[in-house]
Amino acid sequence: MFNFVEFLIEQKIPYVTSGPNVSSGNVNIKCPMCGPADPSQHLGIHIASGVWGCWRIKDHRGRRPHRLIMALLNCSYMEADHYFRSEQAFIPDDFLEEIETLLEPGDDIDDGEKSISKDRVELRFLNGFRRLRHERLARRFIWYLCDGRGFKPKDIELLGKQYGLRYVLSGVWKNRIIIPVFMGDQLVNWTGRTISDLEKIRYMSVSHEKTANPRAPMSIKNCLYRQLELIEERGDILAITEGPFDAIHMDYFLSEHGIRATCIFGTAFSEEQIWIIHELSDFFKRVCIVLDRGAMETAMILQTSLAPLETEIIMLPSGIEDPGEITFQNKNSVLSLFD
Ligand SMILES: [Zn+2]
Repeated sequence: MFNFVEFLIEQKIPYVTSGPNVSSGNVNIKCPMCGPADPSQHLGIHIASGVWGCWRIKDHRGRRPHRLIMALLNCSYMEADHYFRSEQAFIPDDFLEEIETLLEPGDDIDDGEKSISKDRVELRFLNGFRRLRHERLARRFIWYLCDGRGFKPKDIELLGKQYGLRYVLSGVWKNRIIIPVFMGDQLVNWTGRTISDLEKIRYMSVSHEKTANPRAPMSIKNCLYRQLELIEERGDILAITEGPFDAIHMDYFLSEHGIRATCIFGTAFSEEQIWIIHELSDFFKRVCIVLDRGAMETAMILQTSLAPLETEIIMLPSGIEDPGEITFQNKNSVLSLFD
């Protein structure tokens, strides 16, 4: 493991270990890539993993230290690699292998140090992605949300606005409700939930593979649903759920009680998502894991992976199999679990 703290001390680079932008287990420095635009220390380095990232610009992040060393010392890749290698002697053999398995093939972030001036990937909603609102064309989708998911017709406009939902009538994304994932103003991915019982793939998101068209700027597994929106909107409790509709149900019905929700887009979670949860935890009083009733084992693995961050596992009451079944009618029985 590259010892960043030792490196910062050696290079006389000021860092802070506490403050509004500093997560536990992190040190923060002024982001050298933002330069004067970073008024304080917006770049966090997770000491144990060496993962680093800037709160201001999402591209200012990586798993390997090279790019950050280059920016800090204004040096070449070879020089940065020299610093990196001089620390390598201390790494146990299997540790690198373990890190390698965490990296996704084709992920920009993994080879970020080789692709600094890479063209920015942009994603836009496709033709035929219609904003969810009360209109004749949307009726099957509204029916799915009301009859299938327990929302009321009066919820539809707000749901559409708050979560930026779209619906699609034809093409690859036909019969799907589109749940967009933003990073600030930038659309970085979306996931489409089918409303058809005949469709086998329930959730589908945009590929981040280099050859994909359209191509998502970020792999969905490197995102946490509404991660930046939640920092702005705030709340007391952050609930981690599996799927985006789990998060939407919890967030929609419980946010007035201080409970906000995000999701990991599936039952497996990535190292990147762990890191993002750590960062988000700074903005909430409690972090709760609220997975499906049958997913206790996953919940415990997630809890262990999040350590030393303190989290609570919330078991849903009988009759509610997953957070996606939370409605206005049963929300009080869920609320009482958080007392
Ligand atoms: Zn930055």
